[in-house]
Amino acid sequence: MWKCLSNSLSVAGNLAYRHLSRESTCIRCPENKESVNHLLFKCTYARLIWALALVPGPADGEWTESLYTNLYWVLNLAEENGRLEKQAMIVPWILWRLWKNRNELVFKGRKFEAEEVTRRAVEDSEEWRNRKEGTALQITPRVDRGVSGQWRPPPNQWLKCNTDASWHHDHNRCGIGWVLRNEQGEVIWVGARALPKPKTAMEAEVEAMRWALLMVSRFQYKNIIFESDAQVVINLLKNREY
Ligand SMILES: [Zn+2]
Repeated sequence: MWKCLSNSLSVAGNLAYRHLSRESTCIRCPENKESVNHLLFKCTYARLIWALALVPGPADGEWTESLYTNLYWVLNLAEENGRLEKQAMIVPWILWRLWKNRNELVFKGRKFEAEEVTRRAVEDSEEWRNRKEGTALQITPRVDRGVSGQWRPPPNQWLKCNTDASWHHDHNRCGIGWVLRNEQGEVIWVGARALPKPKTAMEAEVEAMRWALLMVSRFQYKNIIFESDAQVVINLLKNREY
């Protein structure tokens, strides 16, 4: 959308204008220049798709010569016309598919029927509305200080992720790692890797914790205790001074 509004979408007209290609015309209707407005609204193919999706243009149902007028209209469809609330939901997906399908045709010679595009846009919008919010938000993280040598299992229904780093003055790389275990102490996931050595051991410890949080948040677990034996990391995460 930003690329459309700043006219930086690489449609044929824009490429030719910047001398990046000779062809400036639309691949579907070669008598017209392919501008962003043509691709998204004025092209016969685009007009057919909008019509099938029951989205009328802003000027008595027609699309105007102004990209901004057309975009403003489709992006404010529900506000402009309460009866078009349902159609408003599929607008971003139609715009997206018009661009993607144009590329499929230009680069791979694949064609999509207008009916199929409209149907897929409806599916996209349903999938979007039924999406699950990011898994990171579902985690209840807790950060604890671990005491070296005596690992204690997490409470019932919780997992525990321990992180650690190895850092030596005379090596130019350091190692970071994490291990995720359940209440029986069984290992569920582990990660270990080497990194260019940061300036201090503390940075390596922070990096280990950051990496563990990043990796573990991708799984669907909800209750996780993150444990490090580096007091300074714990203080940082608990937002205390150190
Ligand atoms: Zn066209």
